[in-house]
Amino acid sequence: MSIEVREIHLRRRPIGLPTPEHFDLVSNRIREPEPGQLLVRNTWMSVDPYMRGRMDERKSYIAPFRLGEAMDGAAVGVVEFSNDPAFSVGDAVVHFAGWRDFAVIDAATARRIDPELPAQAYLGALGFPGLTAYVGLTRIANARQGETIFVSAASGAVGSIVAQIAKLGGLRVIASVGSADKAAWLRNEIGVDAVINYRETADLTAALAAAAPEGIHIYFDNVGGDHLEAALAAAQTHARFVLCGMISGYNSDAPASGPRNIFQAIEKRIRLQGLIVSDHIDLIPEFERKMGVWIKEGKVALRETVVDGLDNAPDAFIGLFKGANTGKMLVRL
Ligand code: NDP
Repeated sequence: MSIEVREIHLRRRPIGLPTPEHFDLVSNRIREPEPGQLLVRNTWMSVDPYMRGRMDERKSYIAPFRLGEAMDGAAVGVVEFSNDPAFSVGDAVVHFAGWRDFAVIDAATARRIDPELPAQAYLGALGFPGLTAYVGLTRIANARQGETIFVSAASGAVGSIVAQIAKLGGLRVIASVGSADKAAWLRNEIGVDAVINYRETADLTAALAAAAPEGIHIYFDNVGGDHLEAALAAAQTHARFVLCGMISGYNSDAPASGPRNIFQAIEKRIRLQGLIVSDHIDLIPEFERKMGVWIKEGKVALRETVVDGLDNAPDAFIGLFKGANTGKMLVRL
């Protein structure tokens, strides 16, 4: 017997910003679960900026998507049939077979989630974006109370958790975002100390200098480009830079030019350290324990932008590069 599923495939590799024509919605038939496998009905799937890199044919820390095959990524769903004693029908699980409505997965690749928390939070605040924020602040930047941090793409999945954990830790938070609504949310509801709307700022370096007259101790980089240059200019001596993402360059067809003021890293003895979240899965238990409490106590807000339907998943993904999301961009299936 086989099961009918709908999957999003990569049709063509994009140059520049992807469009819906780079994706295909395909009906497929998959085999029923063998021993050690589960049939999962996906309820939510994640779209993330790093998937843009996987659309290119190049060697990186994660394999490219294959043309004409289902794409993958984080998803949550409900077990419909279990061929593994560790899972029962009805269990809510997080796994990596997103971009499809049903999946047969190895039970070893699924984790049961806390039914007292919203399932989709395991794709955002409680998932890899939240872990990225936590790792960057604790293990990479060693953030301390009283320090000043600058975070870019600050209303997004990672950035909004960086801002909130930093506020909980007693840091002064300066945020950069691309709209007035995002700025208002961060200022009025999250309580960040200063917000820069980079789309309405002619000189980002001057704006950051004005927001942080004594300089920044930490820069959490999600954007690269002019944001990284502004942060280098504003850095205090011995500042720590968490190089998490550089989304401003993900769709450019030529390699981005380096920060023109990189010499500041020498003058100021700045530590720039790259971060790949999958290197830090040992922190998941500690992180989930703390984040679960913060969410239950209302100390971390779960902000989401929800797009409905698998057929709209490519649009949700493309929207990440246009600033369409506040908080975590999610697809509800
Ligand atoms: P977000 O939820 O932050 O979504 C992307 C946001 O980036 C958009 O909403 C938009 O907000 C902003 N943006 C898009 N294009 C530009 C641009 N050209 N210039 C400035 N801002 C832009 O995504 P995530 O939180 O999932 O990811 C944030 C960053 O973290 C990405 O760079 C991603 O690659 C990286 N990342 C890295 C990980 C790692 O292990 N190293 C793990 C997870 C994420 P706005 O309206 O403010 O412009």
